[in-house]
Amino acid sequence: MRRYSAFAIAREAARFHTGWERAWRSPEPKKKYDVIIVGAGGHGLATAFYLGKNYGITNVAIIEKGWLGGGNTGRNTTIIRSNYLQDPSAALYEKARSLYETMSQDLNYNVMFSPRGVIMLAQTESEIRGYQRTAHANALQGVKTEFIGPQRVKELVPIINLDGPRYPVLGGLWQERGGTGRHDAVAWGYARACSDMGMDIIQKCEVTGVRQEGGKVTGVDTTKGPIDCDKLGLVVAGNSGDLANMAGFRLPMESVALQALVSEPIKPCMDVVVMANTVHGYMSQSDKGEMVIGGGTDGFNNYTQRGSFHHVEETVRALVETFPMVSRLKMLRQWGGIVDVTGDRSPVIGKTPLGNCFINAGWGTGGFKAIPGGGWATAELIAKGEPGPLSAEFGMERFIEGRFIDESVAAGVAH
Ligand SMILES: Cc1cc2nc3c(=O)[nH]c(=O)nc-3n(C[C@H](O)[C@H](O)[C@H](O)COP(=O)(O)OP(=O)(O)OC[C@H]3O[C@@H](n4cnc5c(N)ncnc54)[C@H](O)[C@@H]3O)c2cc1C
Repeated sequence: MRRYSAFAIAREAARFHTGWERAWRSPEPKKKYDVIIVGAGGHGLATAFYLGKNYGITNVAIIEKGWLGGGNTGRNTTIIRSNYLQDPSAALYEKARSLYETMSQDLNYNVMFSPRGVIMLAQTESEIRGYQRTAHANALQGVKTEFIGPQRVKELVPIINLDGPRYPVLGGLWQERGGTGRHDAVAWGYARACSDMGMDIIQKCEVTGVRQEGGKVTGVDTTKGPIDCDKLGLVVAGNSGDLANMAGFRLPMESVALQALVSEPIKPCMDVVVMANTVHGYMSQSDKGEMVIGGGTDGFNNYTQRGSFHHVEETVRALVETFPMVSRLKMLRQWGGIVDVTGDRSPVIGKTPLGNCFINAGWGTGGFKAIPGGGWATAELIAKGEPGPLSAEFGMERFIEGRFIDESVAAGVAH
């Protein structure tokens, strides 16, 4: 595939943009692959990419029931940070964050990684204590964060109201190299690189069954017919329960809709990401000028990829306390994605009861930031058949052994 470059843009401009190649091929499935990945979201595509790049395994199909990146990867609010409390999480998310730093160069695709900084506001005394603890833990883990006072918050976010009616801003956990990235571009960049390595991305092809013999997977049934494989990776986020059901095992996860919305575009007014976890709302400004606002999950399990009115009302009401200017904005769009949530709010990257079937799931409300790290770790797991250091703690057996990686209390919210 031809490299994208400034020279290529000039060349194509001179010939009226008639020479661009398709970014990825859309082949019909072969009869058999070494590895099949189900789900062409960020994690599935990144897994395939690192299988090829790190282990030379390229006879790979990525099977997607819709269009690539059309699941949560294309629906999220793109916050990237690694300021987690527990050591295994900090290692995994920091690996991912550091891979984001060079992703545009590595993939030769501009993923618009914008390390503009992320603040998690402390608005209660217990949040101050919690975030100070996380800052200390991060220092030990080699993750650069700091606890900052209200005046520094105001310098970083001039539009903030420090003296909210219910919850004043008492400080915040600041990660300077956190930020955002362009979600579609992350999926497209990985897809282009996978296709370039000879992998097949098969869209509009739903996996409807997992075929097995003697405790091992032999292939999958799909809407385009049966396809055989030596190894299977399930990377389907909110649909993980369905796929596990097809394969004959159960997961410690529930699926629930998470919603977000954007405002009309306005002039630049906030150049960092702010998360207000006590009132529950978070906000950043997109390159187009829209305020990108994230809300909470629905209070019941469901598979609706839609927004609902009460979420807009609750989220905006919460944000208006801290950002009064939001009250004057019109909201343009809202949407939902189906996230797969575990009890300890940490993902599962591990083996399944079927010998050659592996799973990457349970990222819940916060897996976009983890895409390169999750893909890296899952590729290692699939290639070697055993988890490597990044994913060693994230197997499903932790729920049987009571060895949780508890980020729910630590984060309050996990986007
Ligand atoms: C509103 C919202 C805001 C969020 N904000 C953030 C944020 O700010 N920061 C952050 O880090 N994370 C955030 N997240 C979470 C993040 O989006 C997800 O954790 C991440 O995108 C999961 O990636 P994935 O590749 O595992 O899943 P997905 O992108 O959902 O990909 C899974 C794919 O599997 C496919 N699939 C399912 N079943 C089948 C089948 N039977 N056959 C074939 N294909 C199938 C689906 O169509 C889908 O494309 C947010 C999520 C939502 C919904």
